[in-house]
Amino acid sequence: MLDSLAVTSVAGVGRVKAQALATLGVHTVADLLHYFPVRYEDHRIQPLAAYQDGERVTVRAVVEGAAHVRWHQRRSICTAVLRVDQRHRVTGVWFNQPYLKEKLYDGCVLVVSGRWDAVRHTLTVARTDFTGQAHAYSAWSPVYRGTEQLPSHQLQGVIQQALRQYGEQLPEVLPQSLADKYRLVSHRQAVTWMHAPADAESLRQARRRLVFEEFFLFQLQLQVLRSRRAVVIPACAKQVPEAAWATFQAALPFPLTGAQRRACATIREYLSRPQPMSLLVQGDVGSGKTWVALWAAYATYCAGQQTALMAPTEILAEQHYAEAQRRLGPLGVPVWLLTGSTPSKQRQAVLAQVRTNPGLLVGTHALLTEDVEFAHLGLVITDEQHRFGVHQRSQLRRKGGGLPDALLLSATPIPRTLALAVYGDMDVAVLDELPSGRKPVHTRWLPLQAEDEAIQLARRELAAGRQVYVVAPLLEESEQLREVASATQLWKRLSDRFAGYTVGLLHGRLSGREKDAVMRRFVAGEVQVLVSTTVIEVGIHVERATVMLIYHAERFGLAQLHQLRGRVGRGAWQSYCVLLSDAQGGVAEERLRTLTETQDGFAIAERDLALRGPGELLGVRQSGLPEFAVGDLTKDYKIMEVARQEAAAMLNDRDFWLLPAFAGLRQRLFADPSITGLKD
Ligand code: ADP
Ligand code: MG
Repeated sequence: MLDSLAVTSVAGVGRVKAQALATLGVHTVADLLHYFPVRYEDHRIQPLAAYQDGERVTVRAVVEGAAHVRWHQRRSICTAVLRVDQRHRVTGVWFNQPYLKEKLYDGCVLVVSGRWDAVRHTLTVARTDFTGQAHAYSAWSPVYRGTEQLPSHQLQGVIQQALRQYGEQLPEVLPQSLADKYRLVSHRQAVTWMHAPADAESLRQARRRLVFEEFFLFQLQLQVLRSRRAVVIPACAKQVPEAAWATFQAALPFPLTGAQRRACATIREYLSRPQPMSLLVQGDVGSGKTWVALWAAYATYCAGQQTALMAPTEILAEQHYAEAQRRLGPLGVPVWLLTGSTPSKQRQAVLAQVRTNPGLLVGTHALLTEDVEFAHLGLVITDEQHRFGVHQRSQLRRKGGGLPDALLLSATPIPRTLALAVYGDMDVAVLDELPSGRKPVHTRWLPLQAEDEAIQLARRELAAGRQVYVVAPLLEESEQLREVASATQLWKRLSDRFAGYTVGLLHGRLSGREKDAVMRRFVAGEVQVLVSTTVIEVGIHVERATVMLIYHAERFGLAQLHQLRGRVGRGAWQSYCVLLSDAQGGVAEERLRTLTETQDGFAIAERDLALRGPGELLGVRQSGLPEFAVGDLTKDYKIMEVARQEAAAMLNDRDFWLLPAFAGLRQRLFADPSITGLKD
């Protein structure tokens, strides 16, 4: 089996190369064969006449006569006459490759790429391909992410060698019926083409095949997990008394929205089932997910069990704790808070409570990893779940012995089809209605030079006792120093403009604790203006904040802008969002215009999907979605949908479970430890 064969089995790979490969995460021959290029260089052959002077050309040529090597100081220059076609005989020039003298013999056939000097009739060669020899010519040359010891071109050599030795042994994963139905090339063919595509079409076919396979396996796994949950666990069924619903509603200061009521009814029904619940509540910012979560906690409490509510940060945990105290406290529900900053004595007291009493424990995800022992954990709620990974999702299930119900809250609206495709292991409830009386946030788009106008507005609001967010774009990680510098600069400048108020600064270089401290002061109103690179907490709730001022708004994704805007308009006052941007035309302009036109997160999500594809929408990197080796949700989400349907059909097909033809696939599926439940 190639996945248990060390890379050192490949000829030419010794300890040094194996070590370099290990740093790339490549340990076995299977890893190596599936280590795909990050991009390709286009080396399509064209007639020389098609090129202009100074262009990079790729031509086929025959060497005429012997090659010559000259030395100039310590550098060598190798030249040879190349006959390109009937009309062109040119001089090929190779720098610093004196050994080529031997290889460039009379009559030797080459494909060369390099810079064409039409005046001197020379071609400075950057890439030489000895077509007659080692391997067939490929117009698309792969570029790999390599290391210093093992740069891309050497990696290519190693992979080609591995393919020669072991390519034949690459197992087929997909059933023939699917390959036929979607006209997919074989796994082996796809892998070969990925490393050396004959042309653009073969590359396309190779990708299509591998993406399908990857998504299909992913969907099989998700759906097996899902069906596993259909297992009946009698202890899972919660007996929620009839009266609980009325009592809960009476404890709220406002009536629930229709969408909230529907979600609560769904939750109630799922809680009462003997199968573990796994429900994703998707609601736009400000749609009132917290109360829905509190209902779930209350219902669980009434059934004599405990709830854990996880938030991604301490501040959010504190806010949830306060809200839970306010609403559920009067109903007699014990509510506890446990975070990294809980003093040890208090912590001990909370832990003792949790070991015995029903109630609601609020905290950060530390709740799961630490030695918190629950008396009877019946429900786990995760807020802003996109911050948590798929693995954490399953990890949280393990706490509390049996399988507690899981409720996930997400403020990233995803069009329903996509949600089903990516969150195939969950049910989805949508809060598509905002509480009534909510004033839409006034959203304006101004050019950067109209900054004054925005600042006037902010000063007016500050004078009325409100607070202001200012956001500047986060730079790349490599630019973090510059980010700090530009954020600091902006902060200084604004501190002047907002003289008389306290201006806080948040940027990526601060530690979690430092960020929390600044945030806390803003929440408490001690800081009135918060300047930040987008590290503003998703889900943070500051009612007095009424202005969101975003610099260079064109650098943010649509969903991100919508999230940021969602930080204001959370109280009774009119709120404002000002997008400062000089964007002109294109997607950026489209995004900003969309934002000024609508407040509806789902409409925005659909728009974003159309403009950018789902990658932007989900923020795949930080979403905790699996990172696919080949597949890209931005481009390939349609394949995901097909894969989902096919996976469902396959799992429903007796043949899949019985016939030897599917043994490989079954094995592959259940070899994954997260499926068998042996590992999180
Ligand atoms: P999100 O869905 O963004 O997490 P929250 O749960 O934080 O939203 O709710 C936002 C604000 O709306 C809170 O102040 C909350 O008390 C309020 N709210 C929630 N539901 C209602 C409702 N049905 N009527 C009026 N206000 C509500
Ligand atoms: Mg929230």
